[in-house]
Amino acid sequence: MAGDTARSLDAEKSDGEREIDRLFALQKQAYADSPFPSYDQRVANLDKILRLTEAFESRFIEAISADFGNRSKYESVIAEIVVTLSGARLAKKHLRKWMQPRGVATPLHMLPATSRIERQPLGVVGIISPWNYPVFLALSPAIAALAAGCRVMVKPSELTPRTSDVLREAIRSEFDEAEVAVVTGGVETGQAFAETPFDHLLFTGSTAIGMRVAQSAAKNLTPVTLELGGKSPAIIDKSADIGKAAASIAYGKMLNAGQTCVAPDYVLAPADMIEAVTENIAGAARSMFPEIDTTADYTSIVSDRHFARLKGFVEEARDRGAKIVEVGSANALHPQRKLPLTLVVNPPRDAGLMREEIFGPILPILAANSAEAAIAEVNAGERPLALYWYGEDKDARDHVLQKTVSGGVTVNDSLWHVAQENLPFGGVGKSGLGAYHGQAGFETFSHMKPVFYQSRFAKGAAMLRPPYGPKTAKLLSIVRKII
Ligand code: NAD
Repeated sequence: MAGDTARSLDAEKSDGEREIDRLFALQKQAYADSPFPSYDQRVANLDKILRLTEAFESRFIEAISADFGNRSKYESVIAEIVVTLSGARLAKKHLRKWMQPRGVATPLHMLPATSRIERQPLGVVGIISPWNYPVFLALSPAIAALAAGCRVMVKPSELTPRTSDVLREAIRSEFDEAEVAVVTGGVETGQAFAETPFDHLLFTGSTAIGMRVAQSAAKNLTPVTLELGGKSPAIIDKSADIGKAAASIAYGKMLNAGQTCVAPDYVLAPADMIEAVTENIAGAARSMFPEIDTTADYTSIVSDRHFARLKGFVEEARDRGAKIVEVGSANALHPQRKLPLTLVVNPPRDAGLMREEIFGPILPILAANSAEAAIAEVNAGERPLALYWYGEDKDARDHVLQKTVSGGVTVNDSLWHVAQENLPFGGVGKSGLGAYHGQAGFETFSHMKPVFYQSRFAKGAAMLRPPYGPKTAKLLSIVRKII
């Protein structure tokens, strides 16, 4: 009977679901056969990532550009290739230290026992990645999982299908599918993937889908790391150098045409600085991209649907009286969907672009006359993934950093905390759960196993066993004095 039910359930599955089941069973068996890969095996796996990233570099760059309509080659080298290589090299450099068990102090009354935290590979790990950095956001968590000694299944986004095909080919060129495998497909495949009883699931994507993924994973009590989005503020203090702040914000917003999870989503600046801030951001943008329409260095919006959504934000704000500054001459009907940086000064707080994560090159600029006002503005929304603060007044800076909670912070620039692999990267509240990069990534995919090593000279533990009596009471009175 049970066999019949299992067979009929299996018959209802799609090819994609059966492929997920097959790969998962294969990796689970491989993990059972070799549950603790050696340091050398892990380094060999990191070397495979390094080799495939370099060998497929130009194929990745071409595929991403074809998927986007146009993606700057330089942006792909910086934000897909270099960051992946640096993550793998850093993991190789520190792996021996990360793998070391860490001794912890043992209290006096438990001596001469010793205690330590050992790092054990969690097992088979699932990674669901988004389209905006389709190579880096698939490979960077894989690096952490391989360093931790895990096996990896990756489900990339259906919005970048050419890149996913190259990614699968690249992975197959170096890895057996029992080590690392790529599963492609859309929402249904993603759902089935999230319901697979992985030993850990790392999801990168929107907050709305992240909540669904958490629910799917909860069916198996699969632990999750959720790398989500949000509205990341850029706060310009009155002590800031406007020119430097503006150039940094313009760059952070125009990289990948604003389709970056940690892009500055909106700017807060004192009211009497807003005109200068707007002019300086526009000037910085013009000098970086004098010819947005024609340059291959400015990235396209990924799809017509995303393009229409962004244009809708601008139209709504314009209709409701906000000042709009379009920087550049990009044509909305351009086949490559290039959208110029669009500054929106003082939009209504309930406009679409102030309610949702923008995820494109549109930048609201709003007044906040003091650190307190900026803090109130940030805290009125969900906890952001990133926060940028510009200025020289250290008291104002510390005040803002202490009174706002964001996933990460860069002071006097944008984006950089993400590339610093020795800093954990992740969100907080609605912008995410957990973190990875560097050692934090290694620990995310490791079971941090506490082990208590009893000493053969230990006497106290045996003396506390029944039958209880006056000796137990005496021993307990001593223990109570020293704990
Ligand atoms: P998305 O949430 O639409 O999709 C992400 C992935 O989830 C895709 O692979 C998709 O196929 C899959 N998916 C869709 N429905 C699913 C379901 N029901 N169950 C399981 N998987 C499902 O996100 P997106 O549009 O690809 O990416 C943009 C979002 O990602 C933005 O909100 C951005 O801020 C965020 N993001 C966050 C980070 C970060 O590191 N925190 C990085 C990049 C992007």
